[in-house]
Amino acid sequence: MEILTPSPTAGGEPTEDRRPVALLIDDSPDVHRLLAMRLRSEGIDVVSATSGEQGLGIATTSIPAVVLLDIDMPGMDGFEVLRRLKETDATLNVPVIMLSGLHSPQDKVTAFDLGAVDFISKPFDVTELRVRVRSALRVSQLLRMLSQLAHIDGLSGLYNRLHFDRRWTEEVASTARHHRPLSLAIFDLDHFKSVNDTYGHPAGDAAIQGLAKLLCKECRQSDVPCRFGGEEFALIMPETSPADAGAVCDRIRSALAELAWPRHPERAITCSVGVVGSTGAVGVPPERWIELADSNLYRAKKEGRNRVVTSAIDGGISLARAS
Ligand code: GH3
Ligand code: MG
Ligand code: MG
Repeated sequence: MEILTPSPTAGGEPTEDRRPVALLIDDSPDVHRLLAMRLRSEGIDVVSATSGEQGLGIATTSIPAVVLLDIDMPGMDGFEVLRRLKETDATLNVPVIMLSGLHSPQDKVTAFDLGAVDFISKPFDVTELRVRVRSALRVSQLLRMLSQLAHIDGLSGLYNRLHFDRRWTEEVASTARHHRPLSLAIFDLDHFKSVNDTYGHPAGDAAIQGLAKLLCKECRQSDVPCRFGGEEFALIMPETSPADAGAVCDRIRSALAELAWPRHPERAITCSVGVVGSTGAVGVPPERWIELADSNLYRAKKEGRNRVVTSAIDGGISLARAS
C-alpha cells in the first residue's frame, strides 16, 4: 500500500533530512568549544547557551533534537532547567543528557527521576559522549515517528480524526483572533456501500485511497486533508474564502468522477461535498462549523449526489451549488 504524504505544514514536525541540532547549556566556555567542534564533525549542529534561563528560551522557541545540560550553573541550575523542560509540552519529549562534575549518586537519581535520559560525568571522554548523543538522537527520532504515526490513518495515509479534531479547534480559534478566511469541506463517497457489495471490500479500500490521493494532489500545501471516518474526508482550508474552497472541492469532485478504476472500469465513483467558509472572524464554535458542513453535504446528497454545496457563515448562510 502506498502511504501518501499529508501536508507537511501540519504538526510542524522537523523533517528528517535536516542535520540534528543539539542544544548545549553549560556555563563553561571550554565545554562549548570542545563539544561544538566534535559534534559538528559528527553531523550534529550545536546551539550554545551559557545559562539555564537562556537555554530554556532557546529550547522552547526552536525545539532541539537533544539537550546537553550542565547541572552546576550559577542562577538556575540544571535540575531546575530539566524540571521546566519536562513541564512544557513543546519540550517534554526532547531527550536530555545531564553533564556533571559532581559524582554524587543522589544527583544521578534526581536527574533520572526528573526525566533525563542519560548522565555523563565530567571530565568526559568525547568519544563516549558522541556515542551517547547518537543514542539519544535515535530515541528522539523514534519518539517523533511514533507521535507522527499516532496522527496518520493507516489505510489512506492522510491525517486521522485525532489530528483533525486538534487542528480544527486551533484553526477556528486562529481565524477568530486574526480575522482571516477559513473554510472546511466534508467529502463523502456516493453509494459506497454498493461499491463494497458489488466489487468487494478491497475495491472499496482502493476508492478510499484514490480519493485520498486526489485530495493530496489537488489541495494547497497549507490545506489539511484528513480521513474523518469511514468513507468521509475532511479538508481544512486556512486562508481560503468559501467561494475559493467550493471551487477547489469541485475540482476534486470532478477529477474523482473521471477516474477509471482497474477493478471496475465500467463504474465511476463519485463523491458529494459540503463546504462551509468564512472570509473573516466569526464567533462560531468548531462543532457548529462541522454541523453546517454536514448539512450542506446532506443537501448535496439529496439533490442528486456528485455535487458540491457551499455556504458562507459570515452574516447568514448563502448557498451556492456546483456539480
Ligand atoms: P451515500 O451516497 O448516501 O453516502 O451512501 P453510502 O452507501 O456511501 O453510505 P452508507 O453510510 O450507507 O455506507 C457507507 C459504507 O462505507 C458502509 C461501510 O461498510 C463502508 N466503509 C466505511 N469504511 C470503509 C473502509 O475503510 N473500507 C471499505 N471498503 N468500506 C468502508
Ligand atoms: Mg457516510
Ligand atoms: Mg457515502
